[in-house]
Amino acid sequence: MGVKFSVLPDFVGNGGCSAINSVLMTGAGASISNLRATQCPLARAFAGWVRGPVQTHAREILGSPVVRVETMGSYACRQVKGVASNKLSEHAYANAIDVSGFVLADGRRVTVVNGWLGKGDEADFLRAIRNDACKRFLTVLSPDYNFAHRDHLHVDLGGRPYCR
Ligand SMILES: [Zn+2]
Repeated sequence: MGVKFSVLPDFVGNGGCSAINSVLMTGAGASISNLRATQCPLARAFAGWVRGPVQTHAREILGSPVVRVETMGSYACRQVKGVASNKLSEHAYANAIDVSGFVLADGRRVTVVNGWLGKGDEADFLRAIRNDACKRFLTVLSPDYNFAHRDHLHVDLGGRPYCR
């Protein structure tokens, strides 16, 4: 798939957190910044999303391919954000990725925090790739979901199908 990654040793942390069968992914066609441990099936799905619909929509809607995907990370030993719950996040299992923005070949930078509520092609692009993400991941949370997700798209392969 043209993915740049290294295999990580299995890790079990405190409080039920873990990163088993995980890789450190730094590119899938475009470079991918700031990821930590990511479970292999999620990394595979993410690479397919980046190489497929993200690039297709970037070319068609924004007029330029993506050269860098900016993330806010993957593995993090923490609870679900933005809801009253002490449930561990899928991030605690290296089974979630937060995407915050994209840099295009023409130098333009599209961020979720600025583009989602903007008008025009950036908002169209971000909604298009969110909708495609819903076909490839189990849970997808965008700024439409809650304030905690105003600046990123959360994608994971845990729990039940949910797309907003
Ligand atoms: Zn997240």
